[in-house]
Amino acid sequence: MTTDQIAATLRARLNELHAEIARLEQATIQPLSAKFADQANDLEELATNEGLEVQHIHEAEQILAALERIETGNYGVCSNCGADIVPARLAALPTATRCINCAA
Ligand SMILES: [Zn+2]
Repeated sequence: MTTDQIAATLRARLNELHAEIARLEQATIQPLSAKFADQANDLEELATNEGLEVQHIHEAEQILAALERIETGNYGVCSNCGADIVPARLAALPTATRCINCAA
């Protein structure tokens, strides 16, 4: 994969995440059910949604950071030792900031 292709993939994923976060936000502001028994379920679902939302936001942040590295020409360089991150690793984990040696 070229860096351009990776950037396109990351942007597409970012759009997905934004849509998903917006959907979860929508779910979060639903009123609680009238029955107490249902409210317990609602709260459980809310907690799950917020956990998911936090994960999505975290992933979106990593993607934004990767896109910024692509723009500044620092993409694919290990943040720890400065070595090139092998393409296979970037293909599997496009937001990787460390080479395989430093990540281990
Ligand atoms: Zn390294």
